[in-house]
Parts: sequence; structure tokens; C-alpha cells
Amino acid sequence: MAKLRVYIAFVTNLEAFIDLASYEILFAVCTECSRAKQIDRYELAKKYGLYSPINAIRPKLKCNACDRKTVSVVGKANGPRD
Ligand SMILES: [Zn+2]
Repeated sequence: MAKLRVYIAFVTNLEAFIDLASYEILFAVCTECSRAKQIDRYELAKKYGLYSPINAIRPKLKCNACDRKTVSVVGKANGPRD
């Protein structure tokens, strides 16, 4: 598997799941304990719809480490490419 790129960009309010490139991955960051976790963009797109804004899921995320609902930043990064 190729190494993960360090390139990280924050998702804007205008971006929907359909706007993501195939190699891009999504992750959520907890502002309370700084825990970052990759989230399943395909499962989320299926659940909320390909055309819904990615940031709309932010209030629904909960941090598994500190149990707080402070997962307010969803970013994207380049996943491994073949
Ligand atoms: Zn946390």
C-alpha cells in the first residue's frame, strides 16, 4: 500500500460527498482531545446522500476517546494511489 500523503485540506461548507475525488479520504478531528479518525466517506454518503454537504454531518459525530460531541472539524486528505 502506498504511503499516505501529508496533504490535508479542510472541507468547505460548499463541498458535498459527490465532490470528493476517488483518492480522497475524510477524517474527523476532536477539538477537545485532538484525536483524529478516518471516517468512511462511502458509508456516510450512502447514509446522508451523495449531494448533502459534508459539514452537515459534523453535529452528528461523537468522539470515542473523550465521549464529547466536539468533533467539529472534518478534513480531507489524499489517500493512497496505485
Ligand atoms: Zn475527543
